[in-house]
Amino acid sequence: MTSQNTTRTGAAFNPDTLREKYRQERDKRLRDDGNDQYLEIKGTYEHFLDDPYVEPGFTREPLTDEVEVVIIGGGFGGLLTGARLREAGVEDIRFIDTCGDFGGTWYWNRYPGIACDIESYIYLPLLEETGYMPKQKYSAGDEILEHSQRIAKHYDLYRDVCFQTKIEELRWDEEISRWIISTNRGDRMKAHYVAMALGPLNQPKLPGIPGINDFKGHTFHACRWDYDYTGGDSHGNLTGLAGKRVGILGTGATSVQVVPHVGEAAEQLYVFQRTPSSVDVKHNDPTDPEWVKSLKPGWHQHRMDNFNILVSGGFQEEDLVNDGWTEIIRNLLVMVKNEDEPDLSPEELMKKMELADFQKMEQIRARVDEVVEDKETAEALKPYYRQFCKRPCIHNEYLPTFNRPNVTLVDTKGQGVDRITEKGVVVDGKEYEVDCLIYASGFEVGTSYTRRAGYDIIGRGGKSLEQNWSDGVKSFHGMHVKDFPNCFIMSNAQSGFTPSYPHMLNEQAKHIAYILKNAIDNKVNTIETSPDAQKEWIETIISVARGRNDFLQNCTPGYYNNEGKPNDRTAQDGFYGGGSVAFIKLWDDWRAEGSLKGLELS
Ligand code: NDP
Repeated sequence: MTSQNTTRTGAAFNPDTLREKYRQERDKRLRDDGNDQYLEIKGTYEHFLDDPYVEPGFTREPLTDEVEVVIIGGGFGGLLTGARLREAGVEDIRFIDTCGDFGGTWYWNRYPGIACDIESYIYLPLLEETGYMPKQKYSAGDEILEHSQRIAKHYDLYRDVCFQTKIEELRWDEEISRWIISTNRGDRMKAHYVAMALGPLNQPKLPGIPGINDFKGHTFHACRWDYDYTGGDSHGNLTGLAGKRVGILGTGATSVQVVPHVGEAAEQLYVFQRTPSSVDVKHNDPTDPEWVKSLKPGWHQHRMDNFNILVSGGFQEEDLVNDGWTEIIRNLLVMVKNEDEPDLSPEELMKKMELADFQKMEQIRARVDEVVEDKETAEALKPYYRQFCKRPCIHNEYLPTFNRPNVTLVDTKGQGVDRITEKGVVVDGKEYEVDCLIYASGFEVGTSYTRRAGYDIIGRGGKSLEQNWSDGVKSFHGMHVKDFPNCFIMSNAQSGFTPSYPHMLNEQAKHIAYILKNAIDNKVNTIETSPDAQKEWIETIISVARGRNDFLQNCTPGYYNNEGKPNDRTAQDGFYGGGSVAFIKLWDDWRAEGSLKGLELS
């Protein structure tokens, strides 16, 4: 594998040269402060979190009542849990969320160009249940937000909601075996059960560069888009930016969607880049009514499973979604099929996988050369890392935007911007003056669960979850934590992970509904993991995480690899490394066994 190889279009590449180039590009970006380079949005930065989508002045009376199930978070995780609980016959459900409606990440992220790069027919939950068919292969953000609200209406989840409500503390009351939920609305409500569906990217973050508060122009984070300032809507037409100089900091999946719209509207756009995204072609076709007519009941789960098995490296006769996500696997299967010796060892398979990845990324880089006219800009826009080190993007207008005379890529060569001043952004000693600075700098991932939740959870004996997890996540199946009874956590940590995120949320929701129905039917007081089950699960998580950590170690820094530090702590805090297909089976088998093995009921 050291000789020349070719892409599917016949272009030659040398794997050794590329491997070395990837290493150099990663090393340029490694930094001692890792995840600590980012600022937590609080105190003087708190205004970056203000909700631009609600009327100010909302008030209501504080609540001190009792509810059977409180679901925290009205995004897809919470909605699916609510839906599955309703299907299981649970009526007494209350939602709490800081925002003003259902939708979660799709509530907050309404920036121009917002869309989902995972196929709508597998990404949008509960399509058969709600009778909805997406308009096209990749849905725009407003369609997804609307669908969130459709789910809530369909399952009557608006019945008891506490929106615009920020939880301040969750405390277990041992005497009454209930959670006491305190909020910024003065509530002290009781809940028998709590399900926490916070989402993986719920807390925006800012880069910890000096001077953020010095900037005197207009500024906001992309996930709180200020249309009063920019004009237009999530489909563009940003008339308010006419005559304005705008800076966008960050070039991740958000920025890729925003840049074309701002580039079209602003007098001058500076895009401040540290690491380029991989940007592939987007084939977005309207939904074919004939195809819809051909679908049989159960098609939705079948399609979701087909995609998930393929992107997990499994075999399927047919690739139903057939897009950029499954392409590496398709290439790999072709290679393996062409092999003289089909029984490849795991190491040989890994090598083939790397080769398929090089092929794919060479194609991505060649596309930059084809589209971007200025050679220096094109070179800077080429990603040198394996495709799944960062979120792959698909977009047809992002790269051409850099051919516009009013758009400048300011490449920081992996170092990030130096500082923010009153007037703009400094890179390599040069100040770029802007009227508006937009942070597309991402979301907290590697920080503690309770920091991202924004409140602590106090379990038995006054023990806080923050303290309990200070040396690593401890759970059974990522969902149950010893000394935190009747509390169900929906997160990646020690749970399954699927690239189409709602797929795993649906599995978690079904799992919660199964356990809760059992508990409620049997009039259980508390349900909690046994210490042994928790201990065994942590050991399992660490033991199956190893292979993936090697991959992450070689990746360019980003939130996928804890900003370049995928150490043992990350292994314990990571998701089930045996793959989502195995994880889902493990849960299916667990439920089929029927004894709620590992859980203690009182
Ligand atoms: P990301 O974390 O992906 O991107 C943050 C960006 O900010 C990166 O380009 C990062 O550079 C840059 N950055 C951070 N610090 C600095 C600095 N000091 N100077 C210059 N640049 C800096 O956040 P996004 O909001 O773009 O995306 C988050 C996730 O949301 C995605 O990974 C995806 O899962 C999801 N998403 C999905 C979409 C879709 O389906 N199309 C669309 C949008 C989001 P560096 O890479 O070097 O760290």
